[in-house]
Amino acid sequence: MDGRPADDSRRPGIDGATELFGILGNPVAHSLSPAIYNLFFQAAGENRVYVPLQTEPAELDTVFEALKKLRFVGFNVTSPFKHAVTRHLDRLEGVAAELGCVNTISREGETWIGHNTDGEGLAGFLESLPEIELSKRDVVLLGAGNAARAIFRALLARRPGSLTVVNRSRAKFEEPFFRRHSGEPGVGYVGLDGGESEEPIARSNLVVNATSYGLGGRQELAAPPFPGLGRLAPGTVVVDTNYSPGRQTALLQRLPAGVRAYDGRGMLLHLAGEAYRIWTGHRPDLGAAARLLGVP
Ligand code: NDP
Repeated sequence: MDGRPADDSRRPGIDGATELFGILGNPVAHSLSPAIYNLFFQAAGENRVYVPLQTEPAELDTVFEALKKLRFVGFNVTSPFKHAVTRHLDRLEGVAAELGCVNTISREGETWIGHNTDGEGLAGFLESLPEIELSKRDVVLLGAGNAARAIFRALLARRPGSLTVVNRSRAKFEEPFFRRHSGEPGVGYVGLDGGESEEPIARSNLVVNATSYGLGGRQELAAPPFPGLGRLAPGTVVVDTNYSPGRQTALLQRLPAGVRAYDGRGMLLHLAGEAYRIWTGHRPDLGAAARLLGVP
């Protein structure tokens, strides 16, 4: 016995062969990603480590070049670099190419590739819940920004009963992304500033919030959007992509009794699992990270 806890036995420790991963953003001190990925590596007994990479916007180019020289194998990208970092990449894959927005970067030799795992993260979380059968769900997706678009693509690929996107402003639906998908069966758009009815929200049996409502402070909270949420039937599932450690998000606090509510920790866990699969070629054991995050 060397006094180490039993679960340390599979941790190889850091040495000259350790492969480097991280999260590039500003701020990143609050990020749960280092804890999540290091648990994935530990569960698989892999000689890999994941670190926070706090970066000033003016230094993005220098930092990216340094990550290349330091032979990072892959990294995640968060605000404010999800668009800006694409100028350093040789190729964007899948929905990342359609959105021009990445959250995961992988390397093949000297080729740097951008991916976006947000949509697969949300969809993967839904699929992990026993009660969800997407073909029987009338889904309302709140928001029309980057996260919403990635989620829209992932949900559409799984053929829900219907998929209605509700956004505060209608103008986003005039952009090429939404115009391209407007004719697809079951797809609808509701822009609230155009005076359109919120009824699809109240009638929905699965709501995904991909707006940043709640991050804007007291003034924003005083005028809550989407009153239709107050009429959701018991048993409806609501997933908020946002999360705030130790408390319920502003949106989830406003739901009627009997609604089954989940915050964004499940999406975060599953999008990390997808990034890990891209880097390593196999799926991680989510167990320890799910327990850390409190994800069912
Ligand atoms: P964007 O800035 O691209 O889009 C923001 C969206 O939120 C827009 O549709 C905007 O509407 C809407 N919005 C903002 N404020 C309000 C409000 N007060 N009332 C109603 N609608 C509002 O942001 P992203 O798409 O990049 O991110 C959206 C959220 O997704 C973030 O809060 C982020 O934390 C979360 N997210 C969570 C992840 C996770 O792992 N759990 C991963 C990625 C994102 P409009 O067009 O009218 O301005």
